[in-house]
Amino acid sequence: TTAIVWFRRDLRLADHPALSAACAAHDLVLPLYIHAPEEEGDWRPGGASQWWLHHSLAALQAQLAERGVSLHIRQGDSLAVLRQLLAQTGATAVYWHRLYEPAAIARDRDIKAALREHGVQAQSFNAALWCEPWQIETKQQAPYRVFTPFWRSLRTELGNPQPLPVPSSLRGMEVAGGTPLEALGLLPRIPWDRGLGEAWRPGEQGAQELLEIFADDAIADYAQARDLPSRHGTSRLSPHLHFGEISPRQIHRQLADRVAATDARRRPDIEPYLRELGWREFAHHLLYHFPDTPTANFNPRFDGFHWAAQDDAWLERWQRGRTGIPLVDAGMRELWHTGWMHNRVRMIVASFLCKNLRQHWRHGARWFWDTLVDADLANNTLGWQWVAGSGADAAPYFRVFNPVTQAQKFDPQGQYLRRWLPELATAPPPLLHEPWKDAALLKRSGYPAPMVDLGATRVAALDAYRSMRGG
Ligand code: FAD
Repeated sequence: TTAIVWFRRDLRLADHPALSAACAAHDLVLPLYIHAPEEEGDWRPGGASQWWLHHSLAALQAQLAERGVSLHIRQGDSLAVLRQLLAQTGATAVYWHRLYEPAAIARDRDIKAALREHGVQAQSFNAALWCEPWQIETKQQAPYRVFTPFWRSLRTELGNPQPLPVPSSLRGMEVAGGTPLEALGLLPRIPWDRGLGEAWRPGEQGAQELLEIFADDAIADYAQARDLPSRHGTSRLSPHLHFGEISPRQIHRQLADRVAATDARRRPDIEPYLRELGWREFAHHLLYHFPDTPTANFNPRFDGFHWAAQDDAWLERWQRGRTGIPLVDAGMRELWHTGWMHNRVRMIVASFLCKNLRQHWRHGARWFWDTLVDADLANNTLGWQWVAGSGADAAPYFRVFNPVTQAQKFDPQGQYLRRWLPELATAPPPLLHEPWKDAALLKRSGYPAPMVDLGATRVAALDAYRSMRGG
């Protein structure tokens, strides 16, 4: 018999329950990718994600080709494509992995029902998360809204993960009528993607390489170094996790093995890192249980918050890294150039947008959606609502990040600032953090004066918050 394995955001061969199940129960497998961005509702992949997707699919194609198997790519309505291929191949089963975005859940539910109605075995699996969002609940059988108890509960479930190997019995089938990858038009027409190509290697192998580098080096110092944007102190696995090129189970297993193989006196503590992966699980838990939060405030009290009117010129200065605040501009330029931004800097640029400029967090979330290679509806929603103060377990609204003191603390020598602000590269640290203190430096460098006064806008933000609470 033949099975279709419908690849979506699980672009790997190892620890792939759908592929393993298909290979175990069927003689032949048709690996399929369907390009149907319109089925993702308001959240079709942005430009940077499309770039990643193209290269990740190319990597998967190459990996399958090494095993003599082709990836069949199609465009169009997913159910129609599946029906056509079932008829064309005589396949009796379709296997896939679950997604957690509201549009994908609705589509997949319909497809599963439609296939089963016609006697096709349609089966979905979990490959992206340690635990399904509905498996973890409070004692009152409600979803969690606070991270720490969620994590405590999830941590006890992790156990000793045994990721699946690449199935050795994989035998593919050829089907006519596929679409070449290039025809999907995922790569930009104007080539703005050079920086992305320099920074990343999409695909399962690229993910494994990053994990190796992290496990060899940065994990030992993660709890401290993760806050320093000038260092490669984090794993940078976020885009690989988003596209399912590596699973949290695999990461956990490999790090645990590494710990076990290390001399007891030099064993790295992997708990702080696992906890960050726990935030990813929490974000998926929240998105699943509160599916309108990509655009609606998690905390309805924020519906009464007085945002400033949308200011396109301000938004553009923020997007382009021309605010005149060095750490904000460095972060926004890192994002534009590499499709990624350091977590601490994400918090600071988001705080500047929501609090100092009082532009709605949705504007920021949209820009990140289009420019991040790791743009992820669950994580991005959690991140923006956390900073805005409107989220579940969010930063208190009155905590306004000061981008100057943050830079002085986390980039004291200014290596990060200099990397992304070449026009200020020769300014020594005290001035590099506050270049407006030297009018001649601004003139000479062409670096803009601050677009707003940090102190005054902080006070205005706190006033707006107070009036929301009073109202
Ligand atoms: P590491 O420190 O190595 O962490 C390992 C993994 O844990 C990450 O790859 C990620 O999957 C997960 N993780 C870490 N921190 C968080 C977090 N705070 N929330 C959820 N998961 C986390 N992350 C995304 O993957 N996609 C997004 O679209 C996204 N948008 C964000 C927007 C804002 C405003 C903020 C403040 C944060 C956002 N994050 C997002 C979370 C975080 O910044 C990134 O996951 C992290 O910087 C990725 O780098 P890393 O892989 O080196 O992280």
